[in-house]
Amino acid sequence: MLNPLYCDHSATCPLRPAAARSMSQWLGVPANPASQHAWGARAAEALERARGQVASLICASPREMVFTGGATEANNLALAAVKAARPDVVMMCSVVEHPAVLEVVRASPRHDLVPVDEHGVIDLTALRYILSRHPGALLSVMAANNETGAVTDMTAVSAIAREHGAVLHCDATQVVGRMPVDVGTWDVDLLSLSAHKFGGPVGTGMLFVSRFAGLEPPQVIRGGGQERGWRPGTVNVAGAVGTGTAAQEAQELMGTEQKDARDCRDEFESTLLERLPQAWVNAAGGDRLAGVSSVTLPGRPAEALMLAMPSVAVSEGSACSSGAPHPSHVLTAMGLRRHDAECTLRFSFGPANQSGDGLLAAQALVDAVRRVDTALAGASEDRVGAFA
Ligand code: PMP
Repeated sequence: MLNPLYCDHSATCPLRPAAARSMSQWLGVPANPASQHAWGARAAEALERARGQVASLICASPREMVFTGGATEANNLALAAVKAARPDVVMMCSVVEHPAVLEVVRASPRHDLVPVDEHGVIDLTALRYILSRHPGALLSVMAANNETGAVTDMTAVSAIAREHGAVLHCDATQVVGRMPVDVGTWDVDLLSLSAHKFGGPVGTGMLFVSRFAGLEPPQVIRGGGQERGWRPGTVNVAGAVGTGTAAQEAQELMGTEQKDARDCRDEFESTLLERLPQAWVNAAGGDRLAGVSSVTLPGRPAEALMLAMPSVAVSEGSACSSGAPHPSHVLTAMGLRRHDAECTLRFSFGPANQSGDGLLAAQALVDAVRRVDTALAGASEDRVGAFA
């Protein structure tokens, strides 16, 4: 079977060839940056260069950046650090956060959740009200949603957070490398990112900890003090170098890559909606990430559509929650009915795509809908026959 057309960049992006090349130089050599010899010094130099490349992508200072094993870990570390500094803190996040934030917040005995509107965007009036009831809270808000691509106005969120003395964490996993990020303009205390979302290796991420936040490592992992104690353990130099190279390339190519992704997405949506007028695109009324399209095909379960469309790689909702027996918490929070949420697929275009892929994806989905409709019609005729 030919490789399926890849339309799942929100789940993971293929490793950039430049990142793979830079990593390969560190795979066959001793590379412990803490070693006191020349090999160690070289590894330390490469690590610091990579740190600077990622810092530059989000306009941070390299000394505010900690390498982690991905964004799940960065999110957990960020929230744990605030909790360690203020054990009674009220933890708050939006209802559409990734489980790596939502589950931590929900596990806290003192927490509150902020609703979103029908476009999946955080409700700023509700945010202001909830924060006013809990001054000095910890607020975690994602920069863009992984299921719908809905983009948050982080500057507006941080202005409200500051009014109420909140500590602000941003899960920017879906945005870093895809949209300009400036931690200074956003005025965030902590920010998480993941390398594999912008063409770096899976299993590497970073946590930005503002030097003005006054936060200490949360000691969830104790060890040799690497990464200033935030993430002890011998650092994955190859992973860090690949992340740095991918960050630099993503920064250089952001304009063209995002334009290409948007063109594919727009062609996909216009073709689909013309041929299947009963379909709709979620979060389309607000600001969205360029390549992401969450489409609902009412009456056609997402799982059946995916089985009928093996030539295209997409996700049901998000890859992280695919296979979960409940409908997406993101779509239902936006007001979708349960059965519509279950009939929703996420297409996400990016560097693995080329011009024309949007059209191909839309054609494949239209064909899949026809196949599913035929199968469902056959099944209901069989049922009628059984009772005749
Ligand atoms: N947050 C968001 C918004 C994500 O989309 C993801 C990945 N799906 C994560 C966190 C977790 O990232 P990682 O795979 O690096 O742990």
